[in-house]
Amino acid sequence: MEFRVLGSFGGDSPDCRMTSFLVDGEVVVDAGAITRALTIEEQRKIRHVLISHTHMDHTATLPFLIENIFGTHPEPVSIYCAKRVMGAVRRHLFNNDTWPDFTRIPDHVEPSVRFQEIVAEEPFTISGLPGGDLEITAIPVDHIVPTTGFLLRQGSSSIIFTSDTGPTERVWQVANETPDLKALITECSFPNRLQAVADVSLHLTPKTLAHELGKLKRDVEVLIYHFKPPYVDELRDELNLTQLPCELKELVQDRTYTF
Ligand SMILES: [Zn+2]
Ligand SMILES: [Zn+2]
Repeated sequence: MEFRVLGSFGGDSPDCRMTSFLVDGEVVVDAGAITRALTIEEQRKIRHVLISHTHMDHTATLPFLIENIFGTHPEPVSIYCAKRVMGAVRRHLFNNDTWPDFTRIPDHVEPSVRFQEIVAEEPFTISGLPGGDLEITAIPVDHIVPTTGFLLRQGSSSIIFTSDTGPTERVWQVANETPDLKALITECSFPNRLQAVADVSLHLTPKTLAHELGKLKRDVEVLIYHFKPPYVDELRDELNLTQLPCELKELVQDRTYTF
């Protein structure tokens, strides 16, 4: 699968775009940077958006994507999320105050947006992508709001994106039970000196990331995302000095990976 990193950070600055990935040119995973990273032409190709949770760094550009592609396709764009995530996105984003409710524009019979509820650990498939069918499985993680990571499989290649999470269990079990897993993307948000902040917001520091990676029993590529912009240099230094149970790399913004 072709996996383009539109944004790989947990906040916004001129160098750091918020979390968003483009799969095979048509599926987006999280919406922190879609309209910041893609041309209008590229945005028009997007037909499916997966949302892991409601936080702004994962949803901020969704309203602008919907506006930018409005009226250019006969079918609505599909937004997939777990039930509690969907309720919050509709209540707080497409609520006619923050932004119009595009599930009723131009009308509810032929809307611009269609919400699709997904159920944890029940795989579903998006067909007809350039690289073949994409099977998606949502996996609950432990963040301060309801959040799911995603297992993405195309052909005989899988990757896991944990999304934002503090210490968690199930996603590591799924990783260990996935024989064709090629890569795992997980987070590190705050330096160790801000452990208390990481703990209350359910994020990881290099110290707790090292502990989490001990749960991974497979030899796969591990890629780290979600550095908070003020701590990027500090986190890079700290991760270099941390004893980790496996090798890891930083997920590089604007890079296209092939898994
Ligand atoms: Zn985040
Ligand atoms: Zn979050």
